[in-house]
Amino acid sequence: MAGEPGEAMAHSAFDTILVLDFGSQYTHLITRRLRELNVFSEMLPCTQKLSELKFKPKGIILSGGPYSVYEEGSPHVDPTIFDLNVPILGICYGMQELAYRLNPENVIAGTHREYGHAMLKARSLDNHVDRLFEGIEESMRVWMSHGDKLAKLPEGFHTVATSDNSEYAAIGHETKPIYGLQFHPEVTHTQNGTALLKNFAVGICGCKQEWTMQKFLEEAIAQIRHTVGEKGQVLAAISGGVDSTVAAKLMKEAIGSRFWAVLVNNGVMRLNECEQVKKDLTEALGINLTVVDASQRFLDGLKGIEDPEKKRKFIGGKFIDIFEEEAIKIEEAAASDPTKAGKIEFFMQGTLYPDVIESLSFKGPSATIKTHHNVGGLPARMANGQGLKLIEPLRSLYKDEVRALGRALGIREELVMRHPFPGPGIAVRILGEVTPEKVEIARQADHIFISEIRKAGIYDQISQAYAAVDPSRAVGVMGDKRVYGYIVVLRAVTTTDFMTAEAYNFPWDFLQRVMNRIVNEVHGVCRVVYDITSKPPGTIELE
Ligand code: GLN
Repeated sequence: MAGEPGEAMAHSAFDTILVLDFGSQYTHLITRRLRELNVFSEMLPCTQKLSELKFKPKGIILSGGPYSVYEEGSPHVDPTIFDLNVPILGICYGMQELAYRLNPENVIAGTHREYGHAMLKARSLDNHVDRLFEGIEESMRVWMSHGDKLAKLPEGFHTVATSDNSEYAAIGHETKPIYGLQFHPEVTHTQNGTALLKNFAVGICGCKQEWTMQKFLEEAIAQIRHTVGEKGQVLAAISGGVDSTVAAKLMKEAIGSRFWAVLVNNGVMRLNECEQVKKDLTEALGINLTVVDASQRFLDGLKGIEDPEKKRKFIGGKFIDIFEEEAIKIEEAAASDPTKAGKIEFFMQGTLYPDVIESLSFKGPSATIKTHHNVGGLPARMANGQGLKLIEPLRSLYKDEVRALGRALGIREELVMRHPFPGPGIAVRILGEVTPEKVEIARQADHIFISEIRKAGIYDQISQAYAAVDPSRAVGVMGDKRVYGYIVVLRAVTTTDFMTAEAYNFPWDFLQRVMNRIVNEVHGVCRVVYDITSKPPGTIELE
């Protein structure tokens, strides 16, 4: 996998289906489904100039989209797509775009909009253009979501399937491997949708199904060695979460102790977490790790800050300052270590594919709900201030692929399956001002809650869980004495994408057991509540 550092390079090592995004909410599902078939797929915006592609795709899929092809200002694909001589599949807007390209009169507004299920009937299954439907029953349920339709069959095409409402539910070119579907094969509501995508990617485009994390691991190690060179050294900030741990272990496998990881203890980590991360990374995984204890500096600085955004900004900024101080020390140590003998030239970041997709999607950025809590400003500062190049070895991967890669790297299951944890840590789980007393309460309560969840065997059914502290106090009675204590808020959610979420439905006796332990074992707490708010409107973290 040769390429620039920071670029997603899997496309040069694996057969790749390029998905061009016209802004559909389902676009990322197309790449997901293909990868589940062990076919690598990458998404780019529909405006991508095809002559500037850095790889040759085995096939191209045009996604759906919210626009109407015939309207002014609607997005259009680079017309050279037809000269690339690779199979093309248009889905919904993508099919309308193919038809429109051939003749603008081919697409019109339909009289019936069609949202939801439809019954599809495939036709003339003996024709060679119908390889898309090979091995699939003639009649199946599909998911539609469109208002426009083809007015007529584009020249050179024939109808492969129809539905009651769509005369041209699936079309194929008579002689070229070009197909269009009015329905969405990528959503699970479409029966045999994955089989259709497989027929396209494997049967028609000829992609080898080689996208596995074992193979990726070999390729990634070779690529990191190629990028970093014989002597180059790499620096990274790590948190102990899944992404940074997997990325760090990958770097360690590739370049050994020329990879330097730094963990900053910001004083708002969970109970025993700093020690545990240190143990996991150094003892179990052999990573060259420096731990900086800056907890006092963070806690001092947090004094008096109540506003959630100010807390996040303070923690982010202070983190960068401390990391930079440490980076300078490490650079000196690295340069003077004769066994390593190279400059630190790179800064590693555990960016995942959903972040890349977010920045490439064909739509404007959504409004900021919260300042992003990753080490967001750090890469830019390292690049400008220290002249480091960015290296992002997980840039092609979805979260579950990162987990699979972690397993391939021999990282223990409990670590691989960890819930996400916010960068500002417990600070955003303490409403209002952060004080050492409240940090201690949040830590103890959280530890009890998570231990009980693990003991009950339900940790993996929950996407994220924690205990937070509400600083308004409530009256209670303990040992016949009046007490005035904090309220602990328990939150546990299930979600597939963290964009929407539901509160987890705990058995009542479980909640009672947790409440009982918290009020008995955590000093200063006299009430426990369970937050049942869904997202939206509630975010997953409280602040
Ligand atoms: N906006 C187009 C229509 O309504 C395409 C919709 C889609 O791609 N889902 O027909």
